[in-house]
Amino acid sequence: MRINFHHNTIYFIFTILVLSSCKNELIPSGYKTKNIIVVVIDGPRYSETWGDPTHQYIPRLANQLLPVGNIYSNFYNNGPTYTNAGHTAITTGNYQEINNSGNELPQNPSIFQHWIQTFSKDTLAAWVIASKDKLEILSDCLDVEWNGKHGPSTNCGVNGNGTGYRNDSITYDTIIDILSTHHPQLVLINFREPDSSGHGNNWPGYTQGIQDTDQYAFQLWQFIENDSFYKGSTTLFVTNDHGRHLDGVADGFVSHGDSCDGCRHINLYAFGPDFKEGQIIDIPREQIDIPATIAELLNFKMPKGKGEIMQELFK
Ligand SMILES: [Zn+2]
Ligand SMILES: [Zn+2]
Repeated sequence: MRINFHHNTIYFIFTILVLSSCKNELIPSGYKTKNIIVVVIDGPRYSETWGDPTHQYIPRLANQLLPVGNIYSNFYNNGPTYTNAGHTAITTGNYQEINNSGNELPQNPSIFQHWIQTFSKDTLAAWVIASKDKLEILSDCLDVEWNGKHGPSTNCGVNGNGTGYRNDSITYDTIIDILSTHHPQLVLINFREPDSSGHGNNWPGYTQGIQDTDQYAFQLWQFIENDSFYKGSTTLFVTNDHGRHLDGVADGFVSHGDSCDGCRHINLYAFGPDFKEGQIIDIPREQIDIPATIAELLNFKMPKGKGEIMQELFK
């Protein structure tokens, strides 16, 4: 009797331990990816990125990054084609109309909130780092079960929402500083160019903005590959929030926001230890498939996310 009771007690305690560890600790996903960085380059047309057969403005992507990763030739923003909506699709897996000045939170919970909640992560483990101050909205949502909860840390614009945009060079230095200091594992980055120069009707500035952000993406990849924390365990996506009007639509490259192919057709690059290399993928994909793929890699659920896992990337 006494021995049976003893064994039952041990079994009971063991069961409690197993159940509690499943709830609170990181469950291995079977993937090598432990960290994910999403770089959003604001507003280039596909015709000036991968859609330009000379790749004159994206030499780093074409020559250094493609051989180790994947490029999509049919990737789209299928929702509203302005900044806060495009970014919201990428972080929540839902297209929605949203105020574009930073005065409205996304409706649905983000990849950051789900990941932090699922694995009881510290807020310093996830970051939104943006040249555009208004993108601080990506850290929270209106859903009553999630509002004000499980948000990432933010470093947006001059000094947070309402303080104005800052230069991408400052954002790049901030990225490296935050990655080196806090070693975050889930990060979204926004570069304001080439969108800002595009709106200024400045073609040389617009194409220079594409080249500068191509260089930042490459330097970030180099940082990942040379950092002991990130090397071999980090997936990198480089994409856009929207494109710009085709020539002949409204004022062409200067503006964006409708459903023309120039506004919808954007670029996606995907690199990581679980992904194939050197593929140019023509399967149609869209922004909301990014968070679905992130949730698969990091092993959390997004019940309200509408996207699909981009299975063709995986080894
Ligand atoms: Zn934008
Ligand atoms: Zn358009």
